[in-house]
Amino acid sequence: MTSRPTLLALTTAATLALAASLVAALGVPSAAGARVALVLGAWGVFSALVAYLFLPGFDPIPGRMTRHAPGSSTVALTIDDGPHPESTPGILDALERSRVRATFFLVGSAVERWPELARRIVAAGHAIGNHTQRHRLLPFRTTGQLADEIAACQRALAPLAPTGIRWFRPPHGFKPIGLHRELRRHHLRLVSWQGALRDTDAPGVPALVARAEKLAQPGRILLLHDNPNCRGQTAAAIPRIVERYRQLGLEFALLG
Ligand SMILES: [Zn+2]
Repeated sequence: MTSRPTLLALTTAATLALAASLVAALGVPSAAGARVALVLGAWGVFSALVAYLFLPGFDPIPGRMTRHAPGSSTVALTIDDGPHPESTPGILDALERSRVRATFFLVGSAVERWPELARRIVAAGHAIGNHTQRHRLLPFRTTGQLADEIAACQRALAPLAPTGIRWFRPPHGFKPIGLHRELRRHHLRLVSWQGALRDTDAPGVPALVARAEKLAQPGRILLLHDNPNCRGQTAAAIPRIVERYRQLGLEFALLG
């Protein structure tokens, strides 16, 4: 039987929380305070597990994740889901015009399909990271599938980065059980973000610039997408976002 450890952990935690609620409702243990502590404790464990799995920036164990850009007046631009012929060229042109280097979290299967575009990203001086081989939701995969999603993307990216790949971001930021063990195996570091512009909604360039302005703070890791769903708006917004951030005294840096 193939193991799906994240689903197993979620099911176990939910079952224990329901069981604790049931026995407390039946009056066990006899002291009311102990029953409240039992129910709150059991649901607290379940909630912490859900938060860890599905909140990209949350990890109760400190030090395992890069959550901030380096420097006291810098932000880091990260661009996920590429390469793609409909979106990558425009984004690369916008970054070049704005003299900004970004970190592209690339999907291995897209790199294999459009290797020229991936090479163009690296040649322009941008950093690249692992965004899995097929962009699947990792919490619902088996242990073997999780290992393959990361390892296959590493193989796809290897020819582009002779000094190795350092950064990893899971699709949607979801962190399955066993993720850190796989990341250690490949010497990868998890990268989160605190600035999601939701550009895949294609809300219009003015809305994207306004969203970015609300997030203008030193240390932010901004998340944009190299994805056709953005309908060219991300590339159009980048120069305006960069200009506004520079007016506010912020500069763009690669991840530390
Ligand atoms: Zn993604």
